[in-house]
Amino acid sequence: MDKYDVIVVGGGPGGYVAAIRAAQLGGRVALVEKNELGGTCLNRGCIPSKTLLKHAEAIELIEKARGWGIETGPVTFSLKKMMARKNKVIETLRSGITSLLKKGKITVYNGEASVNQQKHVSIQLAEELKVIQGEKIIVATGGRPFLPPIPGMNEVDVHTSDTIFNLTEIPKSIVIVGGGVIGVEFASIFASLNTEVTIVEMGNRIIPSEDSDAAKLLQKILKKKKIRILVNKKVVSMSQDGEDKSIVIQSDDGKTKKLLCEEVLIAAGRKPNLSAIEKLDIRMNGLYIEVNEHMETNLEGIYAVGDIIGGWQLAHVASAEGLIAAANAVGMKERIDYKVIPRCVYTSPEIASVGMSEEQVKERRIPYRVEKYSLSSNGKAIAMDETDGFVKIMVEEQYGEILGVVMAGAHVTEMISQSSAFIYLEGTVDELANMIQPHPSISESLFEVAGAWKGMGIHT
Ligand SMILES: Cc1cc2nc3c(=O)[nH]c(=O)nc-3n(C[C@H](O)[C@H](O)[C@H](O)COP(=O)(O)OP(=O)(O)OC[C@H]3O[C@@H](n4cnc5c(N)ncnc54)[C@H](O)[C@@H]3O)c2cc1C
Repeated sequence: MDKYDVIVVGGGPGGYVAAIRAAQLGGRVALVEKNELGGTCLNRGCIPSKTLLKHAEAIELIEKARGWGIETGPVTFSLKKMMARKNKVIETLRSGITSLLKKGKITVYNGEASVNQQKHVSIQLAEELKVIQGEKIIVATGGRPFLPPIPGMNEVDVHTSDTIFNLTEIPKSIVIVGGGVIGVEFASIFASLNTEVTIVEMGNRIIPSEDSDAAKLLQKILKKKKIRILVNKKVVSMSQDGEDKSIVIQSDDGKTKKLLCEEVLIAAGRKPNLSAIEKLDIRMNGLYIEVNEHMETNLEGIYAVGDIIGGWQLAHVASAEGLIAAANAVGMKERIDYKVIPRCVYTSPEIASVGMSEEQVKERRIPYRVEKYSLSSNGKAIAMDETDGFVKIMVEEQYGEILGVVMAGAHVTEMISQSSAFIYLEGTVDELANMIQPHPSISESLFEVAGAWKGMGIHT
């Protein structure tokens, strides 16, 4: 039986990053992946969605430029070419991962893995069942879309984020069930392709996990883009007649309404992939694997990282956890630190936040004051004709420590890292107000909001 110091199960951003780090630290490492390297993030998540959102941005920009006196002919688009570019982006990045694993001398097995208590990993390869043994195991098997039990749904050809990227024709209309981050990103993509988009959300607002001011702004802009947003609505049944799909939604008062559409996308959350751990007596935390701060499960030498442990369910968090698990698997003693986790929504306008949300600050009863600065008077935003947005800071009152930052607007997903650095280094509002920001830039809004918090704003 082939033996390894570390066997990683799952080749997504949690798993492949863990494998590379374990190899860098001197381990003999194997990685088992049943589908494609890169996992959900690269193949069915972050990267394909951001590629299509870039197309959406280009289409919107061309339309907008008419108002600036820049005329082109009517905008036409080829879904086939857009999807081909998306596939090319994925392939480029996937071949990069393959090279990195090769460089790290990591053995890659392509098959479904199952781990037992003795740390034997059985892998169902195309031709044979192979068993390998690991001194340590890192489980990084991620998750897949959750399909809520909606009566009639089995009879309807619905899409999830796993299948929607394979569309070959632009639908005339789509109902997106779920107004979370994934739902609103797809709504933006389809609206730019002139698809009639309806979002059905059970809660009282879209992106419930994000700041309420940011959600309010996004809702306003999505509505301007003719996206219909139905909140406090539950899908109670579905049916299909030929190609036509119908969805019955119910309001809190019990009233029902039928929506007709060509496509349905279910974006109602995700659930963990547990096939690798079925033979293990592993302690769970609800649906997810429980781990300690060293990313170790209740079984010594078996670690778990990424979406399989629940929590943030973000690619960069999966990778950060993978680095910790890898270090510990080769004998170090490292702890995960979740203090600074940037969170991004890649719609237009973008939304980005880091540190505590205002709700969290309130829950912890930390004395704080909040300040908000609108991008409507920011020079760069006006020059770009992208003034929808704001920067909001939550600052601890006694020492002025920055506790949380929320940004909405153009390019804020790139800008949030500056705030991450401030929070990581326990920076204060005075330091932020003293930072010289480039002019013109959206980043100047950080200088302005910090000044405004102190009652010394210049353009406020
Ligand atoms: C549409 C969409 C957009 C997203 N956008 C973003 C974004 O912009 N930013 C962000 O941070 N996050 C985003 N996410 C979330 C992100 O994709 C996940 O948080 C991330 O992929 C989790 O990484 P992971 O390594 O834990 O799991 P995964 O990426 O899910 O990888 C797990 C891998 O394990 C494999 N596997 C499962 N079981 C077995 C087994 N028994 N044997 C062998 N292999 C197995 C799977 O095939 C899979 O490849 C998005 C998700 C979706 C669906």
